[in-house]
Amino acid sequence: MTSLPQHVFDTAPDWNEDAYVMAHQQAPPVSVRLNPLKPSTAFPEMQRVPWSANGLYLPERPSFTLDPLFHGGAYYVQEASSMFVEQAFQQHVSRSQPLKVLDLCAAPGGKSTLLASLLRADDLLVSNEVIQTRASILVENMTRWGQMNTWVTNNDPKDFGRATGFFDAMLVDAPCSGSGLWRKDEQAIDEWSESNVQLCSERQQRILADALPALKKDGVLIYATCSYSVAENERIVDWLVTEMNMTALRVDCDAAWGVTETQSPQHKAWGYRFYPWKAKGEGFFLAVLRKNDGLVTDSLYQSSTKQKAKAKQDAALQQQMQAYFNTDIELFQHQDMIYAVHPEHKAYVDSMRGAFYIKKAGTAMGTMLKELVPEHDLALSVHLAEGVSRIALSRDEALHYLKKESVRTGDGYKGWHVATYEGVGLGWGKWMPNRMNNYLPKHYRIRMDL
Ligand code: SAM
Repeated sequence: MTSLPQHVFDTAPDWNEDAYVMAHQQAPPVSVRLNPLKPSTAFPEMQRVPWSANGLYLPERPSFTLDPLFHGGAYYVQEASSMFVEQAFQQHVSRSQPLKVLDLCAAPGGKSTLLASLLRADDLLVSNEVIQTRASILVENMTRWGQMNTWVTNNDPKDFGRATGFFDAMLVDAPCSGSGLWRKDEQAIDEWSESNVQLCSERQQRILADALPALKKDGVLIYATCSYSVAENERIVDWLVTEMNMTALRVDCDAAWGVTETQSPQHKAWGYRFYPWKAKGEGFFLAVLRKNDGLVTDSLYQSSTKQKAKAKQDAALQQQMQAYFNTDIELFQHQDMIYAVHPEHKAYVDSMRGAFYIKKAGTAMGTMLKELVPEHDLALSVHLAEGVSRIALSRDEALHYLKKESVRTGDGYKGWHVATYEGVGLGWGKWMPNRMNNYLPKHYRIRMDL
C-alpha cells in the first residue's frame, strides 16, 4: 500500500491509524440501491445497508454491464456510506407541502437517484451538474431511474442565485480532495496535497455561498464530501454557522451502524463521519443544517399571457399524449420535442426556462411526425401506462437488444413496442414484417462482447 500523508489525519476526530491501514488492505464492499418504483428480481436476500431502505451489500462484484436490469434502472450501483443522505433527509426535511429539492453537484447521479426515491410524485428534484459532459451522464442515469419529477440542469452554482428562496432542501455533495476514496483508488494518494485541500475548502465555500440564496428560510442543507480533512468538513460547517447564519442539526444513528458523530472546532456543530474500519463503506462526511434567514418564494417568475394561450392551444395533443401515462401529465414543447411534466410543475418550466439550461424536464416523450416517434425516456418511465405495448425479452434477447441489434424478428410483431426484461423497460423498437428497427440511443448500448 502507498504510504499515507500523515497530516491528513492529524486533526481527524477519532482517527485510528492501525485500523485504517488494516481496512485499506481489504477490498471495498460492493453495494447497490434498488429502485422502489421498478420492482424486479435483482439481488434477493442480500445483506441490507442499515441506514438505507433500499441499499444492499453484494458478496462480490458481478458484471453489471451484462445485467439488463442495470440498464433498465432497476438499481443503481452506489457506495454504501453515501446512502446516509437518506437518514439526513428523512429525519430533517419537513413534509407538510410538496417539496422542491436541489441537488447542486449531482453527476453521475448516485445521490440524486437516492433523493428521487424519497420523494412523492408532486415533489420536484432539480439535479444540477456544472460540467457539461458529466451533465450528460447525469441525464442518462436519471432517465434510467424513470421519474417525471426529476429534472436535470447544467448550470453554475451562482446561476441559482436567480431562484432566491425557492428550494425547501438542497444537497451539496461538494467536489473535494477525495481522501475517503483512497481504498478504491490508490493512485489518488500520490495526487493528494495539503495545498489541494486548501483549494477545495475555498471552492466549497464559494459553491455554498453562490447557491445558498436559493434555499428558503428554514430550508435544510445537506452538505457532504468524501474527504477526511477537517478543513473540508467540520471547518466548512463552522463557516456555514458563522457566515451563513445556519444551525447544524443532529442525525439519530443506531450505534451498530458505526457512524462517528463529530463536533466542529469552533461551534461544536454536528457532523457525521464514516470511517471504513467502523462503518461498512468508504470514507464520507455529512452535515445537516437549517437556514435561519432568507426569503421564501414559490415561483421564479410569473408565466406570461403568451405562454398561457399556447398551453390552451395544445389541449388536443395533451389528450393524445395522456394515454401513454398512468398518471396526470401536462405537456410542453421545446423545439420539436414533446415533454410531459407533473401538472403542479408546469409553472416551473415556464419560469425556469429563461434562467437555466434545462437538459431534461419531466419525461421526454418524442417528436410528432405522422405519429409519435417515441423517445427513450418514455420507454424507461415508471409512469408508462399499461396500454402501451411491450414485448418481454429473455435475458439473452435483452442483451442483444442492448447491443442495439434486432431481436424477435419474424414473430409477426408490427409497430412500436417497448422492449422489456422482467417487466422493466429497456427501450423502443419498431417492428415490421421480418425486420426490426432498434431505437436504443447509441450511447446507451453495451459495447463489450457478449
Ligand atoms: N453527487 C454525485 C453523486 O452522488 O453521484 C457526486 C458528485 S461529485 C462528489 C462532485 C461534483 O461536483 C462533480 O460532478 C463535479 O463535476 C462537480 N463540480 C466540480 N466543480 C464544481 C464547481 N465549481 N461547482 C459545482 N460543482 C462542481
